[in-house]
Amino acid sequence: MGGAGCSLTAPEVSVKSTDQNIMVGTVDSQPIVIPDEKGWEMLLEAPEIDTIPVSAMIYVYRRFCDEFPKFPGLRMGFVLAPTGKTWISMAVFWTGDRWQRVIVETVQCRRCLWRGTVAQTIRSGLYFGAANVEDAMKRARELPGLGCPQCGLTLLGHVIWINPEDLPASDAKV
Ligand SMILES: [Zn+2]
Repeated sequence: MGGAGCSLTAPEVSVKSTDQNIMVGTVDSQPIVIPDEKGWEMLLEAPEIDTIPVSAMIYVYRRFCDEFPKFPGLRMGFVLAPTGKTWISMAVFWTGDRWQRVIVETVQCRRCLWRGTVAQTIRSGLYFGAANVEDAMKRARELPGLGCPQCGLTLLGHVIWINPEDLPASDAKV
């Protein structure tokens, strides 16, 4: 009875970066893996890639499911932690010719109190693992920055994307 087929963990379950449902790209010369929808389902079953565990899986998955698929260019992926022992989630935005790492969060304009979800590019620690942090931040700052969609005030953190659903309607009374 204890013969073939008794292995508790089938190796097929483990997600590999070579799977067709995992896209491998680079962000600031650092490898990044970006699962597609099926890839996310696989990761929910087995939260590891190349036998390295994926961190913050539930949070990442919810966020991905709820928000990101609606927005072309915005993706959630994973980069290896400097220790190489865990995958850390990272939001990225496709600029047209490269992936830019971003933080997606809700912000409020200090002047007109507009509130919305944005992707911003300048934050301490965001560029961990980049081949050259200074260069990476310089490239980020060179992207067109967006101000408050309501009053034009500069938003903190060099915003490059604003959730279209949060843009004020042109005929709305404020
Ligand atoms: Zn404003």
